[in-house]
Amino acid sequence: VAKRLEKFKTTIFTQMSSLAIKHGAINLGQGFPNFDGPEFVKEAAIQAIRDGKNQYARGYGIPDLNSAVADRFKKETGLTVDPEKEVTVTSGCTEAIAATILGLINPGDEVILFAPFYDSYEATLSMAGAKIKSVTLKPPNFSIPIDELKSIVSKNTRAILMNTPHNPTGKMFTRDELNVIASLCIEHDVLVFSDEVYDKLAFEMDHISIASLSGMYDRTVTLNSLGKTFSLTGWKIGWAVAPAHLTWGVRQAHSFLTFATSTPMQYAAATALRAPDSYYEELRRDYIAKKTILVEGLESVGFTVYPSSGTYFVVVDHTPFGLENDVAFCEYLIKEVGVVAIPTSVFYLNPEEGKNLVRFTFCKDEGTLRSAVERMKEKL
Ligand code: GLN
Repeated sequence: VAKRLEKFKTTIFTQMSSLAIKHGAINLGQGFPNFDGPEFVKEAAIQAIRDGKNQYARGYGIPDLNSAVADRFKKETGLTVDPEKEVTVTSGCTEAIAATILGLINPGDEVILFAPFYDSYEATLSMAGAKIKSVTLKPPNFSIPIDELKSIVSKNTRAILMNTPHNPTGKMFTRDELNVIASLCIEHDVLVFSDEVYDKLAFEMDHISIASLSGMYDRTVTLNSLGKTFSLTGWKIGWAVAPAHLTWGVRQAHSFLTFATSTPMQYAAATALRAPDSYYEELRRDYIAKKTILVEGLESVGFTVYPSSGTYFVVVDHTPFGLENDVAFCEYLIKEVGVVAIPTSVFYLNPEEGKNLVRFTFCKDEGTLRSAVERMKEKL
């Protein structure tokens, strides 16, 4: 394997999902729903296939989806963007992240991450030859350590790659925190890449896009996707919204990574994004019920559950159960209890920082969540 990928292993999500299958364990690890996406979106995909929308799409997205993304962005941020020049459709947000990094970061540029961070950030930054720095969000509140953040921004900093609502912790960046990031970026001429794939799964506060803060749109790439909001993680439809001068870099990388994204699924995605508000309200209601079952269940089992404001994840402290670290705990949980969680140490530059924490997801039907809690109550 090439040197730039030598330190990376099979992703933790792949490892844990195959262990779940092998041991017949209930999978509260990898974040994919065990229920299906909405009928009206699936019908739209079937219709597009029947209508012969089956050849290459326009590289940066079918016009209808670019427009639907621009409309949704306007609704959420108040910003008017040009669907033709400022929206790029990609194969999932993971590709949007890769295209953003490969299209806008030079070897040696410094990029700042908030640990724990989603694993693809570090791997893709490594492919781009970037220098990675991180500040750690610590329990119980996972607030941004402002002074530390200020101290690591330097003249070599090219970008801050952030994620709100935040995977794995469920933390949502507050307006005050976003203001600090924004003024640092403006002062030091730094870009922001903002992964907002869980924006519709915001439970305890309103989601704020950093692009909507004064002076920020011009230096921000906002990244999102269809999968989490529409329970269609396997469709791999994502997008990047950015001013034309940044979109150019994203599109250049995208052109040579995947060229274009699945055509019929883009038609269906455009239909999905035009869902009425009631769709999103119902989604949130369902998820609040699931979250309550899991959080109360984990607390009754004896975990310290840290507050999660958004996403479909919660992070807990496993140390009451006496296992030496997160990986050992997750192995025990799979083999002896029959439940899968995700160890968090892989989401830090220094794995030690994650050794007490594991992540559970509640994007599963209520019966599955209850059975997982029952197993833990009996066997932990
Ligand atoms: N985003 C999903 C999670 O955090 C995993 C996606 C993947 O497996 N790469 O669980």
